Amino acid sequence: MGKGSRQCRRCGCHGPIIRRYGLNICRRCFREMAPKLGFKKYS
Ligand SMILES: [Zn+2]
Repeated sequence: MGKGSRQCRRCGCHGPIIRRYGLNICRRCFREMAPKLGFKKYS
């Protein structure tokens, strides 16, 4: 758990991380969690 390391806290992958809403998850996980979070439109 290094400081400033952008890493998906859900799957742990590195890459495009969605830091909005304090999620800190990758786009892939975001798309999976989006419906649960109330985000219906995201592509
Ligand atoms: Zn992920």
